[in-house]
Amino acid sequence: MNVNRLITAAILALVCFLLFVYPDPQGDLYTILRYIAFGLLIVILYQFTTSDPDIYEPEVKPSVEQKTSVSPGLIIREEIHDQYEQLLKMVFNMVIAINENYKAAFFMLDGSGNHLTIQSSTKDVFKELIPTENEVIQTIFFQQEAVLFQQTDVGGNWVDLFVEKSWRGSECVLGARVLYKNAPVGCILVQADHFSTIQERDRNLLTSLGSFVSLSMVKLDNIEKLSLDNFFHYQIANLLNSMDIQSEVRGLYKKVRDLCRSFFNYDKLTISEIQTDGEHYKVVLEDGYSGDVDPEKLYSISKSIHGRGFRSDETMESSDSTADYYETGRFEEGDLEEHKFNSILAVPVLINDNVKYCIAIEKQQSYNFIVSDRNLLELLALTFGSMVSWQQQYWKMHENAMHDGLTGLLNHKAFMDRFNEEISRAKRHQHSIVLSILDLDSFKLINDTYGHLYGDYVIREVANIIKERVRNIDIVGRYGGEEYSILLINTDIDKIIPVAQRIIDAIANFSFSMKNVDVRITTSCGLAEYPKDTDQVNELIIKADAAMYKAKSKGGNLVSKYSVIGSRTNGMETTT
Ligand code: GH3
Ligand code: MG
Ligand code: MG
Repeated sequence: MNVNRLITAAILALVCFLLFVYPDPQGDLYTILRYIAFGLLIVILYQFTTSDPDIYEPEVKPSVEQKTSVSPGLIIREEIHDQYEQLLKMVFNMVIAINENYKAAFFMLDGSGNHLTIQSSTKDVFKELIPTENEVIQTIFFQQEAVLFQQTDVGGNWVDLFVEKSWRGSECVLGARVLYKNAPVGCILVQADHFSTIQERDRNLLTSLGSFVSLSMVKLDNIEKLSLDNFFHYQIANLLNSMDIQSEVRGLYKKVRDLCRSFFNYDKLTISEIQTDGEHYKVVLEDGYSGDVDPEKLYSISKSIHGRGFRSDETMESSDSTADYYETGRFEEGDLEEHKFNSILAVPVLINDNVKYCIAIEKQQSYNFIVSDRNLLELLALTFGSMVSWQQQYWKMHENAMHDGLTGLLNHKAFMDRFNEEISRAKRHQHSIVLSILDLDSFKLINDTYGHLYGDYVIREVANIIKERVRNIDIVGRYGGEEYSILLINTDIDKIIPVAQRIIDAIANFSFSMKNVDVRITTSCGLAEYPKDTDQVNELIIKADAAMYKAKSKGGNLVSKYSVIGSRTNGMETTT
């Protein structure tokens, strides 16, 4: 019941009583007042009869701190919306790095908690809204690990997720939950056309991706809360929005510098980074006063004023550093005489609870930094630290996604990406490249005789043999099950034949041995050269493959090169 309206009606009734009944005053003014009061009473009574205050909800327009997505307990506000978008973009890049044929979407619970709303997707195959009670969603929400469902196993629940009507039955969906304050608030869904394409490793990667997004949500929220309390929150929000999670960390240093330039009045700005020995740091960015820092030099953490920044996780501030600190140098002993600086405000940047960077602004004269300087620099450090840790986690996951889980070699997609890059580079520099494809001979026999685990061991060992026999600049990939691909950079087939021969000899001579079972295996190797044989990536693969099959058809354990000399059927030369 609307209490305000009740009170208004009661007051009006009282006014009417006084005007009409007691003490029954006379005169035109009273008559007019009586009519006005009577009219108002009618309006109020009409309101009571036409609307039910219990269910009446005025339509609320979005407020200033409007949400772009609302979940119980989690609000992504406008200020960090671009960051949020970046996060989603990154999630999708990661999914595609795992397998380029995967279709992915990110869903978040809506305000009511009854539905999951799509936030973004790589393909339009997903429904915009999924009921939270959907069993697939419920299972994902309550499983720590990513969960795999096959279309035929989930019955009617499938149609809640996808728009398409016709299904072959082999499709499957992999889902990882996203938590906020330990409660599920969303999920990443990945759809694949055939369940056999989803490997166990992909499930682990998706689980990590879900945890990463969960962590990122908390970080976004923290940054956003801190920035709201800060006078400069709009500028900080802009900084956040302009930062790219996938960019190089050097780009981030420059963004911090640009912000510091516009916010602070300093003679010198430095960003220092701790070294792996934990005892030294390097200055990775400097701005303003110059000549006092050598970017190549390792400075001692224990013997310098700037080193103090790494010794504690507290902000350090002084308007007279020579009096406040016992160290005799800013970066190294004695440098204060030549480069006189009195005031410093230095904020540590924590990554995984360890001080990794220190951002310091200094003034030559004695200067008392104000509270807002300190707050702002702390906020910048927090933001910067979050971005760096996101980047690190991103690149770590990206690395994992690019490599084959069994051999550690580049997976097919990553190899193809590098292949295209290398061909473009070779075009620019007019280099030649040799593509080599190797396939184990009669490998199936090993699986059939000794089991898949033995087969896996052989695949792994062969990868090691190959890696040890090529240069660092060459690119080795696991092209398929028991097929390997090698890109040999800036060379030609004639130079590579002996290298390839050494590889296949090393494989043939290696005694594979696991659990006292000894096995020997041979390989067939095909070679094709860019641009001599073709300047097209796909053609080069076809030709190297054809050469490899030629070697196999001659009994295997051979290197064969594609050759344009001769007729079509004799287009290959084989060496032994
Ligand atoms: P060929 O000499 O003609 O190359 O014969 P092959 O037996 O080597 O070739 P085929 O293509 O018939 O068989 C390759 C086998 O490799 C089939 C597949 O089960 C197996 N395989 C593919 N990937 C893996 C893997 O990761 N681990 C194991 N153990 N086996 C694998
Ligand atoms: Mg084979
Ligand atoms: Mg094969």
